[in-house]
Amino acid sequence: MLTIDLGAIRANYRLLRDRLGGKRCAAVVKADAYGLGADRVAPGLADEGCDSFFVAHVGEGIVLRKILGAAPDIHVLNGLPPGAEEACIAAGLVPVINSAAQLAAWRGKAAACGRILPAAVQVDSGMARLGMPPQEVELLAADPGAFAGIEVKLVMSHFARADEPHEASNGAQRAAFEALAQKLPAAPRSLANSAGIFLGTDHPFDLARPGAALYGINPTPGLPNPMAPVVRLDAKVIQTRIIEPDTGIGYGHAARADRRMQVATIALGYADGWHRRAASAAFFDGARLPFVGRVSMDSIILDISALPQGALAPGTLVELIGEHQTVDEVAAQAGTIGYEILTSLGRRFHRVYKNG
Ligand SMILES: *Cc1c(COP(=O)(O)O)cnc(C)c1O
Repeated sequence: MLTIDLGAIRANYRLLRDRLGGKRCAAVVKADAYGLGADRVAPGLADEGCDSFFVAHVGEGIVLRKILGAAPDIHVLNGLPPGAEEACIAAGLVPVINSAAQLAAWRGKAAACGRILPAAVQVDSGMARLGMPPQEVELLAADPGAFAGIEVKLVMSHFARADEPHEASNGAQRAAFEALAQKLPAAPRSLANSAGIFLGTDHPFDLARPGAALYGINPTPGLPNPMAPVVRLDAKVIQTRIIEPDTGIGYGHAARADRRMQVATIALGYADGWHRRAASAAFFDGARLPFVGRVSMDSIILDISALPQGALAPGTLVELIGEHQTVDEVAAQAGTIGYEILTSLGRRFHRVYKNG
Protein backbone atom coordinates (compact mmCIF):
# COMPACT_ATOMS: atom_id res chain seq x y z
CA MET A 1 0.00 0.00 0.00
CA LEU A 2 1.53 3.24 -1.20
CA THR A 3 0.27 6.24 0.76
CA ILE A 4 0.89 9.63 -0.82
CA ASP A 5 0.41 12.76 1.26
CA LEU A 6 -0.88 15.39 -1.16
CA GLY A 7 -0.92 17.97 1.63
CA ALA A 8 2.80 17.40 2.20
CA ILE A 9 3.50 17.92 -1.52
CA ARG A 10 1.66 21.24 -1.35
CA ALA A 11 3.52 22.22 1.83
CA ASN A 12 6.79 21.38 0.09
CA TYR A 13 5.81 23.56 -2.86
CA ARG A 14 5.12 26.49 -0.49
CA LEU A 15 8.45 25.95 1.28
CA LEU A 16 10.36 26.03 -2.00
CA ARG A 17 8.46 29.04 -3.30
CA ASP A 18 9.07 30.96 -0.07
CA ARG A 19 12.76 30.16 -0.33
CA LEU A 20 12.82 31.68 -3.81
CA GLY A 21 12.00 35.09 -2.40
CA GLY A 22 9.62 36.31 -5.09
CA LYS A 23 11.01 34.29 -7.98
CA ARG A 24 8.54 31.93 -9.65
CA CYS A 25 8.37 28.26 -8.77
CA ALA A 26 7.39 25.74 -11.43
CA ALA A 27 6.75 22.04 -10.78
CA VAL A 28 8.35 19.11 -12.56
CA VAL A 29 5.77 16.34 -12.89
CA LYS A 30 7.48 14.12 -15.47
CA ALA A 31 7.19 10.33 -15.22
CA ASP A 32 3.70 10.65 -13.73
CA ALA A 33 4.94 12.99 -10.99
CA TYR A 34 7.90 10.75 -10.16
CA GLY A 35 5.54 7.77 -9.98
CA LEU A 36 3.14 9.35 -7.51
CA GLY A 37 0.30 10.16 -9.92
CA ALA A 38 0.28 13.42 -11.89
CA ASP A 39 -3.53 13.37 -12.00
CA ARG A 40 -3.64 13.83 -8.21
CA VAL A 41 -0.43 15.80 -7.68
CA ALA A 42 -0.62 18.48 -10.38
CA PRO A 43 -4.10 19.90 -9.58
CA GLY A 44 -3.06 20.48 -5.96
CA LEU A 45 0.02 22.37 -7.11
CA ALA A 46 -2.09 24.44 -9.50
CA ASP A 47 -4.32 25.27 -6.51
CA GLU A 48 -1.20 26.58 -4.74
CA GLY A 49 -0.74 28.99 -7.63
CA CYS A 50 1.75 27.01 -9.70
CA ASP A 51 1.23 28.02 -13.33
CA SER A 52 4.25 26.39 -14.95
CA PHE A 53 4.74 22.63 -15.28
CA PHE A 54 7.42 20.45 -16.85
CA VAL A 55 7.10 16.94 -18.26
CA ALA A 56 9.62 14.89 -20.24
CA HIS A 57 7.54 13.65 -23.17
CA VAL A 58 4.94 15.12 -25.50
CA GLY A 59 2.61 12.26 -24.50
CA GLU A 60 2.92 13.22 -20.84
CA GLY A 61 2.15 16.82 -21.77
CA ILE A 62 -1.02 15.80 -23.64
CA VAL A 63 -2.24 13.89 -20.59
CA LEU A 64 -1.35 16.75 -18.24
CA ARG A 65 -3.17 19.29 -20.40
CA LYS A 66 -6.37 17.25 -19.96
CA ILE A 67 -5.80 17.18 -16.20
CA LEU A 68 -5.02 20.88 -15.75
CA GLY A 69 -7.12 22.58 -18.40
CA ALA A 70 -5.98 25.40 -20.65
CA ALA A 71 -4.32 27.86 -18.27
CA PRO A 72 -0.88 26.65 -17.14
CA ASP A 73 2.28 26.49 -19.25
CA ILE A 74 3.29 22.89 -19.88
CA HIS A 75 6.88 22.45 -21.06
CA VAL A 76 8.28 19.33 -22.70
CA LEU A 77 11.85 18.85 -21.44
CA ASN A 78 13.00 16.21 -23.91
CA GLY A 79 12.39 18.64 -26.73
CA LEU A 80 10.46 18.62 -29.96
CA PRO A 81 10.62 15.18 -31.56
CA PRO A 82 10.51 15.17 -35.37
CA GLY A 83 6.87 15.03 -36.44
CA ALA A 84 5.44 16.07 -33.06
CA GLU A 85 4.78 19.70 -34.05
CA GLU A 86 1.02 19.20 -34.64
CA ALA A 87 0.56 17.35 -31.36
CA CYS A 88 2.34 20.13 -29.44
CA ILE A 89 0.18 22.80 -31.04
CA ALA A 90 -3.04 20.85 -30.47
CA ALA A 91 -2.31 20.41 -26.75
CA GLY A 92 -0.86 23.90 -26.34
CA LEU A 93 2.51 22.57 -25.18
CA VAL A 94 5.71 24.58 -24.95
CA PRO A 95 8.53 22.46 -26.38
CA VAL A 96 11.94 22.92 -24.83
CA ILE A 97 13.94 23.59 -27.98
CA ASN A 98 17.23 21.77 -27.50
CA SER A 99 18.92 22.24 -30.88
CA ALA A 100 19.06 24.49 -33.92
CA ALA A 101 17.37 21.69 -35.89
CA GLN A 102 14.41 21.66 -33.49
CA LEU A 103 14.23 25.44 -33.70
CA ALA A 104 14.16 25.25 -37.51
CA ALA A 105 11.34 22.70 -37.41
CA TRP A 106 9.30 24.81 -34.99
CA ARG A 107 9.98 27.98 -37.00
CA GLY A 108 8.92 26.16 -40.17
CA LYS A 109 5.71 25.10 -38.49
CA ALA A 110 5.03 28.66 -37.32
CA ALA A 111 5.47 29.94 -40.89
CA ALA A 112 3.33 27.14 -42.33
CA CYS A 113 0.40 27.80 -40.04
CA GLY A 114 0.87 31.57 -39.86
CA ARG A 115 1.07 31.64 -36.09
CA ILE A 116 3.47 32.69 -33.36
CA LEU A 117 4.47 29.53 -31.51
CA PRO A 118 5.76 29.46 -27.92
CA ALA A 119 9.06 27.85 -27.00
CA ALA A 120 11.51 27.44 -24.18
CA VAL A 121 15.12 27.40 -25.35
CA GLN A 122 17.60 25.24 -23.51
CA VAL A 123 21.31 25.88 -23.67
CA ASP A 124 24.01 23.47 -22.56
CA SER A 125 25.89 25.33 -19.84
CA GLY A 126 28.06 22.34 -18.97
CA MET A 127 26.27 19.03 -18.68
CA ALA A 128 26.49 17.68 -22.24
CA ARG A 129 23.04 16.13 -22.06
CA LEU A 130 20.39 18.35 -23.64
CA GLY A 131 20.32 21.88 -24.98
CA MET A 132 22.16 23.92 -27.56
CA PRO A 133 25.94 23.91 -27.30
CA PRO A 134 27.63 27.35 -27.24
CA GLN A 135 28.65 27.18 -30.93
CA GLU A 136 25.02 26.68 -31.93
CA VAL A 137 23.94 29.61 -29.77
CA GLU A 138 26.58 31.78 -31.50
CA LEU A 139 25.27 30.84 -34.93
CA LEU A 140 21.68 31.61 -33.95
CA ALA A 141 22.73 34.92 -32.40
CA ALA A 142 24.27 35.90 -35.75
CA ASP A 143 21.09 35.01 -37.67
CA PRO A 144 18.42 37.73 -37.40
CA GLY A 145 15.70 35.37 -38.66
CA ALA A 146 16.52 32.53 -36.28
CA PHE A 147 13.54 33.14 -34.02
CA ALA A 148 11.05 34.38 -36.62
CA GLY A 149 7.56 33.31 -35.59
CA ILE A 150 8.77 32.01 -32.22
CA GLU A 151 7.87 33.52 -28.88
CA VAL A 152 10.70 32.62 -26.53
CA LYS A 153 8.95 32.25 -23.17
CA LEU A 154 11.90 30.88 -21.23
CA VAL A 155 15.64 30.42 -21.57
CA MET A 156 16.86 27.54 -19.45
CA SER A 157 19.71 25.21 -18.61
CA HIS A 158 20.31 22.44 -16.08
CA PHE A 159 22.92 21.81 -13.37
CA ALA A 160 25.02 18.65 -13.52
CA ARG A 161 26.13 18.80 -9.86
CA ALA A 162 23.63 20.91 -7.92
CA ASP A 163 23.57 18.26 -5.17
CA GLU A 164 27.28 18.98 -4.53
CA PRO A 165 27.14 22.58 -3.29
CA HIS A 166 30.91 23.01 -3.09
CA GLU A 167 31.57 21.96 -6.66
CA ALA A 168 33.13 24.73 -8.72
CA SER A 169 31.21 23.54 -11.77
CA ASN A 170 28.01 25.05 -10.34
CA GLY A 171 29.42 28.56 -10.46
CA ALA A 172 30.93 27.85 -13.87
CA GLN A 173 27.57 26.68 -15.20
CA ARG A 174 25.85 29.72 -13.78
CA ALA A 175 28.31 32.04 -15.54
CA ALA A 176 28.11 30.06 -18.80
CA PHE A 177 24.32 30.16 -18.63
CA GLU A 178 24.23 33.91 -18.14
CA ALA A 179 26.63 34.49 -21.03
CA LEU A 180 24.65 32.24 -23.37
CA ALA A 181 21.26 33.63 -22.32
CA GLN A 182 22.46 37.13 -23.20
CA LYS A 183 22.87 36.08 -26.82
CA LEU A 184 19.30 34.81 -27.06
CA PRO A 185 16.02 36.74 -27.20
CA ALA A 186 15.21 38.33 -23.83
CA ALA A 187 13.02 36.03 -21.74
CA PRO A 188 12.71 34.82 -18.16
CA ARG A 189 15.59 32.53 -17.17
CA SER A 190 15.55 29.21 -15.40
CA LEU A 191 18.45 27.12 -14.11
CA ALA A 192 17.71 25.57 -10.72
CA ASN A 193 16.20 22.14 -10.02
CA SER A 194 15.44 21.14 -6.41
CA ALA A 195 19.03 21.07 -5.22
CA GLY A 196 19.79 24.22 -7.24
CA ILE A 197 17.26 26.13 -5.11
CA PHE A 198 19.46 25.40 -2.08
CA LEU A 199 22.75 26.42 -3.70
CA GLY A 200 22.43 30.11 -2.98
CA THR A 201 20.17 33.05 -3.51
CA ASP A 202 21.29 33.97 -7.03
CA HIS A 203 21.01 30.56 -8.66
CA PRO A 204 17.28 30.34 -9.22
CA PHE A 205 17.10 33.23 -11.73
CA ASP A 206 13.43 33.96 -12.62
CA LEU A 207 11.90 30.49 -12.42
CA ALA A 208 12.98 27.38 -10.54
CA ARG A 209 12.07 23.85 -11.66
CA PRO A 210 11.92 21.54 -8.63
CA GLY A 211 10.74 17.96 -8.90
CA ALA A 212 12.30 15.65 -6.31
CA ALA A 213 12.01 18.03 -3.34
CA LEU A 214 8.27 18.35 -3.90
CA TYR A 215 8.04 14.60 -3.39
CA GLY A 216 10.04 14.60 -0.16
CA ILE A 217 13.47 13.65 -1.50
CA ASN A 218 16.27 15.52 0.29
CA PRO A 219 17.55 18.35 -1.95
CA THR A 220 20.49 18.91 0.42
CA PRO A 221 22.25 15.53 0.64
CA GLY A 222 24.41 15.30 3.75
CA LEU A 223 22.28 17.85 5.61
CA PRO A 224 18.96 17.32 7.39
CA ASN A 225 16.07 17.07 4.92
CA PRO A 226 14.11 20.35 4.92
CA MET A 227 11.20 18.77 3.05
CA ALA A 228 8.14 17.07 4.54
CA PRO A 229 7.92 13.31 3.92
CA VAL A 230 5.39 12.47 1.22
CA VAL A 231 5.49 8.72 0.67
CA ARG A 232 4.75 5.83 2.95
CA LEU A 233 5.00 2.23 1.76
CA ASP A 234 3.51 -0.67 3.69
CA ALA A 235 3.29 -4.32 2.68
CA LYS A 236 0.96 -7.02 3.90
CA VAL A 237 2.05 -10.15 5.75
CA ILE A 238 0.83 -13.18 3.75
CA GLN A 239 2.09 -16.05 5.89
CA THR A 240 4.23 -16.72 8.96
CA ARG A 241 6.08 -19.85 10.07
CA ILE A 242 8.57 -21.21 12.59
CA ILE A 243 11.69 -22.72 11.03
CA GLU A 244 14.31 -24.99 12.59
CA PRO A 245 18.07 -24.36 12.65
CA ASP A 246 19.82 -25.00 9.31
CA THR A 247 16.66 -24.51 7.21
CA GLY A 248 17.50 -23.03 3.79
CA ILE A 249 15.52 -19.84 3.19
CA GLY A 250 14.24 -18.60 -0.17
CA TYR A 251 15.81 -18.83 -3.65
CA GLY A 252 19.26 -20.33 -3.77
CA HIS A 253 18.99 -20.94 -0.04
CA ALA A 254 20.90 -17.67 0.03
CA ALA A 255 20.21 -17.56 3.79
CA ARG A 256 20.13 -20.42 6.27
CA ALA A 257 18.59 -20.33 9.72
CA ASP A 258 21.29 -20.21 12.40
CA ARG A 259 18.73 -20.87 15.14
CA ARG A 260 15.05 -21.57 15.56
CA MET A 261 13.44 -18.59 13.84
CA GLN A 262 10.07 -17.04 13.33
CA VAL A 263 9.70 -15.68 9.79
CA ALA A 264 7.00 -13.85 7.86
CA THR A 265 6.48 -13.61 4.11
CA ILE A 266 5.23 -10.23 2.87
CA ALA A 267 3.55 -9.32 -0.42
CA LEU A 268 6.24 -7.12 -1.92
CA GLY A 269 8.91 -7.97 -4.47
CA TYR A 270 10.97 -6.68 -7.33
CA ALA A 271 7.93 -6.69 -9.65
CA ASP A 272 6.58 -3.96 -7.40
CA GLY A 273 9.69 -1.91 -8.04
CA TRP A 274 11.43 -2.97 -4.83
CA HIS A 275 14.99 -3.49 -6.05
CA ARG A 276 16.64 -6.76 -5.09
CA ARG A 277 19.41 -4.69 -3.56
CA ALA A 278 17.19 -2.15 -1.78
CA ALA A 279 16.85 -1.74 1.98
CA SER A 280 17.03 -4.98 3.86
CA ALA A 281 14.51 -4.52 6.66
CA ALA A 282 10.91 -3.70 7.38
CA PHE A 283 9.52 -2.20 10.58
CA PHE A 284 6.61 -3.07 12.82
CA ASP A 285 5.72 -1.45 16.09
CA GLY A 286 9.21 0.05 16.30
CA ALA A 287 10.92 -3.33 15.77
CA ARG A 288 13.36 -3.80 12.90
CA LEU A 289 12.56 -6.94 10.92
CA PRO A 290 15.53 -7.89 8.69
CA PHE A 291 15.00 -9.48 5.28
CA VAL A 292 16.31 -13.04 5.09
CA GLY A 293 17.41 -14.50 1.77
CA ARG A 294 16.68 -13.02 -1.61
CA VAL A 295 13.94 -10.66 -2.67
CA SER A 296 11.52 -12.62 -4.90
CA MET A 297 9.32 -11.21 -7.65
CA ASP A 298 6.24 -10.97 -5.41
CA SER A 299 7.45 -11.66 -1.89
CA ILE A 300 10.15 -11.15 0.70
CA ILE A 301 10.84 -13.21 3.83
CA LEU A 302 11.39 -11.32 7.09
CA ASP A 303 12.98 -12.46 10.33
CA ILE A 304 10.32 -11.60 12.89
CA SER A 305 11.90 -13.47 15.81
CA ALA A 306 12.12 -10.14 17.66
CA LEU A 307 8.33 -10.02 17.94
CA PRO A 308 6.10 -12.01 20.26
CA GLN A 309 4.71 -15.10 18.57
CA GLY A 310 1.54 -14.36 16.63
CA ALA A 311 2.18 -10.62 16.56
CA LEU A 312 2.01 -10.54 12.77
CA ALA A 313 -1.22 -12.16 11.66
CA PRO A 314 -1.73 -12.43 7.90
CA GLY A 315 -3.03 -9.09 6.65
CA THR A 316 -0.94 -7.06 9.08
CA LEU A 317 0.98 -4.20 7.47
CA VAL A 318 4.69 -3.68 7.95
CA GLU A 319 6.47 -0.45 7.04
CA LEU A 320 9.03 -0.33 4.22
CA ILE A 321 9.19 3.43 3.71
CA GLY A 322 7.99 5.75 6.45
CA GLU A 323 9.12 7.20 9.73
CA HIS A 324 11.69 4.43 10.37
CA GLN A 325 13.18 4.36 6.90
CA THR A 326 13.13 7.27 4.44
CA VAL A 327 13.10 7.08 0.65
CA ASP A 328 16.65 8.41 0.66
CA GLU A 329 17.82 5.73 3.10
CA VAL A 330 16.22 2.96 1.06
CA ALA A 331 17.95 4.36 -2.00
CA ALA A 332 21.35 4.63 -0.32
CA GLN A 333 21.19 0.97 0.70
CA ALA A 334 20.41 0.00 -2.89
CA GLY A 335 23.29 2.10 -4.19
CA THR A 336 20.90 4.41 -5.98
CA ILE A 337 18.99 7.67 -5.49
CA GLY A 338 15.52 8.40 -4.13
CA TYR A 339 14.41 9.39 -7.63
CA GLU A 340 14.89 5.83 -8.87
CA ILE A 341 13.11 4.33 -5.87
CA LEU A 342 10.04 6.55 -6.33
CA THR A 343 9.80 6.12 -10.09
CA SER A 344 10.23 2.34 -9.74
CA LEU A 345 7.47 1.83 -7.19
CA GLY A 346 5.11 -0.10 -9.32
CA ARG A 347 1.64 0.38 -10.62
CA ARG A 348 0.80 -2.76 -8.71
CA PHE A 349 0.45 -1.00 -5.38
CA HIS A 350 -2.87 0.06 -4.06
CA ARG A 351 -2.35 3.84 -3.91
CA VAL A 352 -3.98 5.79 -1.14
CA TYR A 353 -4.02 9.58 -1.24
CA LYS A 354 -4.39 11.59 1.92
CA ASN A 355 -4.90 15.28 2.64
CA GLY A 356 -6.15 15.75 -0.93
C1 LIG B 1 14.02 16.38 -13.92
C2 LIG B 1 14.45 17.77 -14.19
C3 LIG B 1 14.24 18.77 -13.23
C4 LIG B 1 13.79 18.45 -11.82
O1 LIG B 1 14.92 18.01 -11.11
P1 LIG B 1 14.83 17.63 -9.55
O2 LIG B 1 16.24 17.29 -9.22
O3 LIG B 1 13.92 16.46 -9.47
O4 LIG B 1 14.32 18.80 -8.84
C5 LIG B 1 14.51 20.08 -13.59
N1 LIG B 1 15.00 20.39 -14.82
C6 LIG B 1 15.24 19.45 -15.75
C7 LIG B 1 15.81 19.85 -17.06
C8 LIG B 1 15.00 18.10 -15.46
O5 LIG B 1 15.29 17.17 -16.37
